Amino acid sequence: MNTQDYVALDERYGAHNYHPLDVVIARAQGIWVYDVEGKRYLDFLSAYSAVNQGHCHPRIVQALKDQAGKVALTSRAFRNDQLGLLCKELCELTGYEKALPMNSGTEAIETALKAARKWGYMVKGVPADQAEIIACTDNFHGRSITVVSFSSEPLYRDGYGPFTPGFTVIPYGDADALAAAITPNTVAFLLEPIQGESGVRIPPAGYLRQAADICRERGVLLMADEIQSGLGRAGKLLACEWEDVRPDVAVIGKALSGGMYPVSAVLASAEVMDVFDPGSHGSTFGGNPLACAVAREALRVLVDENLVENSARLGAYFLEQLRTIQSPHVKEMRGRGLFVGVELWPAAGGARRFCEVLAQRGLLCKETHQHVIRFAPPLVITQPDLDWALGHVREVLTSL
Ligand SMILES: *Cc1c(COP(=O)(O)O)cnc(C)c1O
Repeated sequence: MNTQDYVALDERYGAHNYHPLDVVIARAQGIWVYDVEGKRYLDFLSAYSAVNQGHCHPRIVQALKDQAGKVALTSRAFRNDQLGLLCKELCELTGYEKALPMNSGTEAIETALKAARKWGYMVKGVPADQAEIIACTDNFHGRSITVVSFSSEPLYRDGYGPFTPGFTVIPYGDADALAAAITPNTVAFLLEPIQGESGVRIPPAGYLRQAADICRERGVLLMADEIQSGLGRAGKLLACEWEDVRPDVAVIGKALSGGMYPVSAVLASAEVMDVFDPGSHGSTFGGNPLACAVAREALRVLVDENLVENSARLGAYFLEQLRTIQSPHVKEMRGRGLFVGVELWPAAGGARRFCEVLAQRGLLCKETHQHVIRFAPPLVITQPDLDWALGHVREVLTSL
């Protein structure tokens, strides 16, 4: 079978809820992926930052194999010998008191929303069923009906109503809007420290700190969605560290398993996490031993290979080099660590055609929304490989 055969198969039998580039990947290692024709590409998207540790990292593959041969799933009806260790290691690494593993990012966000509401009723004293949660415009927190209930993107919402009540949406990056939106029933403010899906949007300097101060003064939980921005992607372990902010709740996922297996987690203080009691929340696969063993190794790789530092150092270099490119198409280049967005002017005709040409040259990236190209290679990338990519980006941005 060749590329066209696989594309035809997807189109015929699969749901059409994505519009992928027609590159059919069959194998991957480190920063490289290989298609069914044997052509090699540098992965400049990293599965939306799930493969920060690089594809098929040998240590993570080994951890998966070892654990798969021991025990994969116990359900939470019984204990397993991996869950507590993962929670402990996560807390020691991030400084939180408690961790609750789930599977997808969306589920971990739902878990955080539940925790915030329950905390509101049990600790803050909000009247029953009155809790309000504030979120931001252009957010991306997942795809469940509750989560898209506070999305401002029609594409994510159309046709899925009725929606879950109890959410207020305010402009991203506007601390005054946050202060004005809080009511006595507000339990939490949920935000992405950098908005990935909306185009690697970095809020104005000081915003995270101001938001944290407002939340603390007003008795509102600050909840950071670090699913994409965290675990080294933005040059810090958690992107909120850019403004020395420690949210009350942090949600991680994606790179928590190095892309090997779906694993997410909610990190919080004991005060927040202890609102859950037996039966009040759960997941058959959440915290399973296979997931936990994989996540433990993925975290160790992040630390042992200094991937956070690599992201900070090479990200700064990459952005500096990108900014030397003189292209009439470019409106703005922005980034933190190896989390970079190149925003094009509308006259450039959309980011997709640039991504298609880059793919032909062996560089896989994806447009996000219409006009932004996101560059997010695995954090194991080296400077020579980054220079190779930069050469292609330079030629494409100046020749198209
Ligand atoms: C990917 C992502 C999610 C959703 O994670 P899934 O694993 O796809 O459910 C939520 N928030 C952010 C910021 C993300 O990037």
